[in-house]
Amino acid sequence: MEENNRRDFLKKATAATAVAATTIGAPAIVRAEKTYNWKMVTTWPPHFPLLGEAADKLAEMIGVMSGGRLNIQVYGGGELVPPLQAFDAVSQGMVQMGHGAAYYWAGKAPATQFFAAVPFGLNAQGMNAWLYTGGGMELWDEVYGKFNLKPLPAGNTGVQMGGWFNREIKSIADFKGLKMRIPGLGGKVLAKAGGTAVLSPGGELYTNLERGVIDATEWVGPYNDYKMGFYKVAKYYYYPGWHEPGTVLESFVNKDAYAALPKDLQEIIVAATMASNMWMLCESETKNNIYLDKMVKEEGVILKKFPADVIEQLRKYSVEVLEEIVAKDPMSKKVYESFSQFQKQQQAWSKISERAYYELFD
Ligand code: CA
Repeated sequence: MEENNRRDFLKKATAATAVAATTIGAPAIVRAEKTYNWKMVTTWPPHFPLLGEAADKLAEMIGVMSGGRLNIQVYGGGELVPPLQAFDAVSQGMVQMGHGAAYYWAGKAPATQFFAAVPFGLNAQGMNAWLYTGGGMELWDEVYGKFNLKPLPAGNTGVQMGGWFNREIKSIADFKGLKMRIPGLGGKVLAKAGGTAVLSPGGELYTNLERGVIDATEWVGPYNDYKMGFYKVAKYYYYPGWHEPGTVLESFVNKDAYAALPKDLQEIIVAATMASNMWMLCESETKNNIYLDKMVKEEGVILKKFPADVIEQLRKYSVEVLEEIVAKDPMSKKVYESFSQFQKQQQAWSKISERAYYELFD
């Protein structure tokens, strides 16, 4: 075939295929091109730094990766349903997808808490390894499956800060009578130390701290905490975040909605949440020290480490809290056995890998 004829032939052939595609080949192609419009409800205020942003980015990424076949409209907490009703809204199929943190759902099933943060538990590297390749994901599927939900890790904050306090913590007795916003298992540990754990949405924390409704709050890390402005209403900034050593943010999908998607769109959701998980951890790692420096040097924040004996006491209370949950709930027992077994392995390996390496710079 001469070059001109060849081009002509190809052009005709392409045109013929296009015609066939819209007529004879229609059923298969129409199914592949079907567009899905989903709603995602979140536990965060709309476009909230890092956390809400992660939900926005996840939806955007899924839209781009699917070539516009899966469009997700994101709703901040309160825009469609109140923040702490996101779980029910997705479980009941009112919307298809949600974004939050698993410890918010302890009232639904105590075992959910192990998939967000465990006091003195796994750090980010450990949580990711346990979930993705250490058997954690299968257990999370089992726990959320009962609510017709498919969970997906969708972010990680890294080791958090211990929190903002208006009085110094010199001994464990200083927790007595302390009203602190601290969610999840950490809150139960605080209660053992004589404090009162308050669970209020992020949007109300600044005002509550300013007005003395609470005496202390933990939030995330220096980058997020700076954005919340806590340095203006609390004096002491404590570390380390013993209660949240590598908090996992989650996305969850209604199982029926997920099952109705073609395989490639299902895989796009899995891959995009994994990318989002990586993005959040990197964003935290990049920005935390920059903002910590800013607060200490420019805003006069007093940075304090929890005294060693306070940490030891909190660790004892944490063990008690975990033992109590495990004794009452068989699913929590099953999850905690896997979790603690994995943590033993991680600690052994980290002694001669990450920890040994960090010690080179001590
Ligand atoms: Ca926190």
